[in-house]
Amino acid sequence: MEIDDLYAMIPRVPCPPGCITCCENFGVPSRTPVEDERIKAYLKEKGMSVKEATGTRCPYVTERGCSIYPVRPFICRLYGTSPNYMCIENYRPERLLSLEEEEELLHLYYLHFSEERR
Ligand code: SF4
Ligand code: SF4
Repeated sequence: MEIDDLYAMIPRVPCPPGCITCCENFGVPSRTPVEDERIKAYLKEKGMSVKEATGTRCPYVTERGCSIYPVRPFICRLYGTSPNYMCIENYRPERLLSLEEEEELLHLYYLHFSEERR
């Protein structure tokens, strides 16, 4: 399984343009080594540097949204789509994942991609 296959299983949340509430409140998102490498490669390609977090704000959030959106980690994609990750602005995907589906996605994520959590 590739990480993109897992991402494709996550519904999209119809976030309103410019909303960054979750990015500003939950700190630096956890990521697996493969995601870390994808982020570093993307930053390099865009001439950007790796950022350190301060407080609870993700270092990659900007006034215009996520600056690493194409390579944002699994947890950012899962947020808002399932029972334990409900959007605090009350936006919902077309179909909310069930608890079982949420558990299955998390299981697949850690099984295939998490040799060492960061
Ligand atoms: S998931 Fe919710 S809080 Fe996060 S950007 Fe979308 S609408 Fe905003
Ligand atoms: S990586 Fe992007 S989507 Fe995830 S918390 Fe940071 S700014 Fe938000």
